[in-house]
Amino acid sequence: MQIFFLSIVAAIYGVLLGNYVSSAYHRIPKAKPLNGLNDVIGKKPHCSLCLHPLKFYEYLPVLSWVFSRFKCNYCGFKIPLMYTILEASMMILSVLAFFVFDINIDYALICLVIAAILLNLSLFITYSKFYAKSGMILFISILLYGFYKYGYVIS
Ligand SMILES: [Zn+2]
Repeated sequence: MQIFFLSIVAAIYGVLLGNYVSSAYHRIPKAKPLNGLNDVIGKKPHCSLCLHPLKFYEYLPVLSWVFSRFKCNYCGFKIPLMYTILEASMMILSVLAFFVFDINIDYALICLVIAAILLNLSLFITYSKFYAKSGMILFISILLYGFYKYGYVIS
């Protein structure tokens, strides 16, 4: 029972990370700011074609798969399959990482590294190039894990 409950927690953590990965995947090549929920710098979640603002259940992963059926509810724009692939694969990877590490800081940080690898990989597969911004995200996530795990200091 506890394993089942914790798997759900891991799935939710994974899908949230996957959601961030897919938004970074969308924004980095277009040089858009990565903090879209900030009213000052970015905009509220919206359809990238018709710019219609989205209701919360239309941009939340899994819920949006159900309520939007992979297209925009306002203009019918088909949401690129890559976004769903990224969210779903991050969800699966997070649950797998939970089975290996259990729910702890190790697990949380490893998931960040996995998400960053997934981001760089998906960008490379789509555009055949590496982006400095996504490379930086990977670098920082590995650094965070290193600091936690080995506590090394730069001397
Ligand atoms: Zn639209």
